[in-house]
This record gives sequence, structure tokens and C-alpha cells, in this order.
Amino acid sequence: METQLKTNLLGLDRQSMEAFFAGIGEKAFRASQVLQWIHQNGVDNLDAMTNISKDLRKRLQEVTEIRPPELVLEQASADGTRKWLLRLDSGNCIETVFIPERDRGTLCVSSQVGCALDCSFCSTAQQGFNRNLSAAEIIGQVWVANRALGKDPKGERIITNVVLMGMGEPLLNFDNVVKAMSLMMDDFCYGLSKRRVTLSTAGVVPALDRLREVSDVALAVSLHAPNDALRNELVPLNKKYPIRELLDACKRYVAGKPHSRITFEYVMLDGVNDSPQHARELIKLLQGVPSKINLIPFNPFPGTRYTRSGDAAIMRFRDMLINAGYTTITRKTRGDDIDAACGQLAGKVMDRSKRKIRLMAAEQARAVG
Ligand code: SAH
Repeated sequence: METQLKTNLLGLDRQSMEAFFAGIGEKAFRASQVLQWIHQNGVDNLDAMTNISKDLRKRLQEVTEIRPPELVLEQASADGTRKWLLRLDSGNCIETVFIPERDRGTLCVSSQVGCALDCSFCSTAQQGFNRNLSAAEIIGQVWVANRALGKDPKGERIITNVVLMGMGEPLLNFDNVVKAMSLMMDDFCYGLSKRRVTLSTAGVVPALDRLREVSDVALAVSLHAPNDALRNELVPLNKKYPIRELLDACKRYVAGKPHSRITFEYVMLDGVNDSPQHARELIKLLQGVPSKINLIPFNPFPGTRYTRSGDAAIMRFRDMLINAGYTTITRKTRGDDIDAACGQLAGKVMDRSKRKIRLMAAEQARAVG
């Protein structure tokens, strides 16, 4: 099909865009022009690019397209959180969430359709894994949200931060994620500083070392447990890359960056990882790692075996960490009336990993046994 042969300009970062223009005998500055039209001005139509000659536009028309994901549904929460459901090719859908706060606006984007990591407390995991998102599909979420949100009355950006904390494990889709992040930080695109782009990972150690070589975005690590036995249960990836190796990689990531700290995410699960003993273990574990701790009250979803820690347990845990000298915040649950909270993003995933079948088989076995 003709359209499939066309290059989707939305997914080209500066380097690829410059290479593309060099390939058709055009100067590098064209890359900046086109990036600016697409990302700063939200344009998806070559004809709108008035500083590009008609001739060149015509040539571009023949070989390129600007194709964002299709917007299917937009929802707004009573607390101002907004969620977009986007349809990709092949019928899969992903979700993107915008969380406004007093001093910033954070967009939470997805990196994969579903997820293969199978964390026991995450609803995305239950759906299994379908595929990686392309760079166009990742940055396309920023593009759609940016266009929907417009500018604030002072003409300032509304999206001030992006977190890769939606569906998927970003480090298992390395190249596309790095490309999309470079567009988020490009001055001709979304112009975010490296401190305002955060990649969240369950801890793919070799990819963390690779990331350090090519990017210095802020890093969040989903720790969730202070010892390997418990973490193996909650984040099965830990069996491959245990806590010690993960923390060593974290130290390497911030080495030589004096003001950088790793954000450790810790989901608060009632009676599972929220006791004073767990807090003491965590305090010891993170000694010597430049850290901030982000406690996330568990967000329940249908079929989960976990419940959220009570407020008193969360406060006790938090106070112990603070008294030990750790910067600790408790993430406020936002947008739960539209299922937009952490771990609730579902979208629509055509599972290719057969996880659903395995889960059903396991349930049947349990019912019989
Ligand atoms: N795969 C990446 C990013 C996606 S999840 C990662 O593991 O970091 C973003 C964050 O939400 C992670 O810290 C994840 O552990 C957390 N999370 C997942 N399910 C949750 C739930 N039900 N309640 C609260 N937080 C959850």
C-alpha cells in the first residue's frame, strides 16, 4: 500500500530528519523548519508549512506523511486530570494522561502496547504484551495532548513535564523511546529540559547503562520492595536483575552528575511491603544512593489480590524515611474517577503473549485443585 511506504515525519528526531533531508539533497535547516511546524505549531499538513517552497512541499507530499495516532476518546476527571484514548494501526489502543498541578503540568505517556514484565500489582500486566510503540506513536501522544491542551492565557506551555510512566517498559523499547525523548527536549519541538523528562523503569540493568551513554534524562526506578525475596514476587524482572545490580547501575547513572538523584517508586500494598521493618530495610538499602522516594498508594483494579495501605501505615512509613534523611513524597492519587491513575491504564491490547490464556489456565487449575 502506498501509505505504508511513506515516511512518517512525526517520528523523526533531529538527527533522522537531517539525514532525511540530506538524502533528498536538501539543506539541514529544513529539519528545524519541519520540526517546528509539526511539534511547536501542531501542524499535520505539509501545505501549512509556508516557509517551505511549493515545489519542495510537493516532493515531500509524495514520499512523506504526518500521521499522529487517532484520537478516539477524551475524558476529564473532576480533579482536572485528562485522559486520551488513542487508536493505533491494527486496532490496539493506548492511553495518555495529563495531570495539572499548581506549578506544572505533567503528561504521562506509554512506550509499549501492553507490557511483558508481569508485575503482580499492575493492571497493564494483566493484559499481556502486544508490541513496541514506534517513535511516532510515542511522540504522537505528546503531539495530540499538546494540541488538545493549547496554550495557557499567558502563551506559556501547558505541558511542562513528561514522564514515561504509562503502559510498557520504556527500556525494552530503547531506540524509539530515546528518539521520542530527544524530540521532547529539542528546542524546536517541546523544549523541555532534561530534568523535566523522566523515564521510569522496572530495572533493565544493561539498558540503563546504555541509556547513560546516550541521554541524561531524569530516572525513576520502580523498586517497590527492600529485599530480593519480596521484589521477585512483585517485579519478576528482579530474578534477572536483582536489587544489588540494579542499585549499582543507578549509582553509575548519577555518577559525575552532582545534583542528580534517582527517584525510587514504592507502591504501598497493605500488609505486603508497608511495615516498619520494610521501612528499616529500605533505609539501609538506599544508603549511599542519591535518592528521592516516591510512595505510591496502590490503585486497585478489577481482579487484583492487593489492597491499598491505610493512611496511617503510609504516614508511618513516610515519616520513618524522612527521619532517616530521605526526601520522601506520597504521590497523590489523581484521575481515579476516569481510571487514569498509576497502574490503571488499560487501553486495548491484543495480547500476543498468550498471558490471558496462561492466567485462565492457572485460575482453572486453582479452581479444580
Ligand atoms: N515499566 C515502567 C513504567 C510503567 S509503570 C516501570 O515499571 O517503572 C509506572 C509506575 O506505576 C511504576 O512505578 C509502577 O510500578 C506503578 N504502578 C503500576 N501499577 C500500579 C498500581 N496498581 N498502583 C500504583 N502504582 C502502580
